[in-house]
Amino acid sequence: MRRDVVYADRISQLPPYLFARIDELKAEARKRGVDLIDLSIGDPDIPTPRSIIDALYEAAKNPSTHRYPTYDGMLPFREAVAGWYARSKGVKLNPEDEVIALIGSKEGIAHIPFAFVNPGDYVLVPDPAYPVYFNATILAGGIPRTLPLLDENEFRPDLTAIEPEILKRSKILFLNYPNNPTTATADGDFFREVVDLAREYDIVVCHDNPYSEIVFDDTRAMSFLEVDGAIEIGLEFNSLSKTCNMTGWRIGFAVGASDLLAGLLKVKTNIDSGIFEAVQWAGIRALEIADEVARANTQIYKERRDVLCRGLEGAGFEFKPPAATFYVWVRVPGGYDSISFAEALLSRCGIVVTPGVGFGQHGEGFVRFALTEPVERIEEAVERIEEAFGEAEKAKDL
Ligand SMILES: *Cc1c(COP(=O)(O)O)cnc(C)c1O
Repeated sequence: MRRDVVYADRISQLPPYLFARIDELKAEARKRGVDLIDLSIGDPDIPTPRSIIDALYEAAKNPSTHRYPTYDGMLPFREAVAGWYARSKGVKLNPEDEVIALIGSKEGIAHIPFAFVNPGDYVLVPDPAYPVYFNATILAGGIPRTLPLLDENEFRPDLTAIEPEILKRSKILFLNYPNNPTTATADGDFFREVVDLAREYDIVVCHDNPYSEIVFDDTRAMSFLEVDGAIEIGLEFNSLSKTCNMTGWRIGFAVGASDLLAGLLKVKTNIDSGIFEAVQWAGIRALEIADEVARANTQIYKERRDVLCRGLEGAGFEFKPPAATFYVWVRVPGGYDSISFAEALLSRCGIVVTPGVGFGQHGEGFVRFALTEPVERIEEAVERIEEAFGEAEKAKDL
């Protein structure tokens, strides 16, 4: 007998899944033997460096790592995080209470609303954005209030446009620079404006910074905590996932105000039991070599970026070459929306990209290319795009 499962309201309140049609097209193309080039995945294709794997193996041989870890992370791991923040960002953190380990930064981002949001409270969420900010707010019973990220504002929210009535009832402001998906970066002036607003309305700023090390040319991505006063009102989430090609390892961290971290830890102690200590020892090794690894990765992404950007430019697409992250955020050509253009790229070129609308309604009109395939594959993608959407093809549309 079939029974009807009734999910909790918080599940039905989650936004609908938009990519069913694209998934279908992708599966069909695979079945037909199409040589798909998948540029939709925000997950480095470059392997984790060998010495990090060795550190895991060594640590796993020690039975002391086989027991329950502490909730907030081993002190040596928290010290390594503090050391890295001091070295690479000039931010001083007390490893005792201004750093906690996370099971990937996604875990901390998803749990933070449970510490600060009561039913009916607002959470300020950029749009387009990494979907976890919006969805975790809903799971915690909060109301996401979206802040449009518009091209004409360099994809930063206009903080002056948020009504005071909303601000008074807002508990958290999520931000993410360098930004996924728009690739925009932020500067000290913007972060200072954020600190002033958060102080005035008593809002917890959660800055998500997993792309802090994936920056090109003369760009330097700031830590939010570099700004005066930020450490009193905010947290920064960061991760080894993108910096050291460790998405599968599930290790990240939150740093910042100790009383805010204590709230997050209160939630976590009732949900998870920490991170395998051998993974934390590998994380310590990763933090020791993070700057070198990031430099090598950035060289690789930069070459891919340049190939893709040259190709897209040649085919007449509108976009800004990214100064950071491993994405390119591209305006869809006239006559398409983000989903129909992604479908066209898939069916005509065998290229998979992410439709911008999947990141929120203000992502409409864009698609996201991820630079997570080898440069030869990106060259091949560019050739296919040129053939299908180049000038000759455009002339036909006129
Ligand atoms: C990849 C990504 C994360 C998740 O990182 P993990 O540490 O692997 O959980 C968080 N935020 C953004 C914006 C990301 O792109």
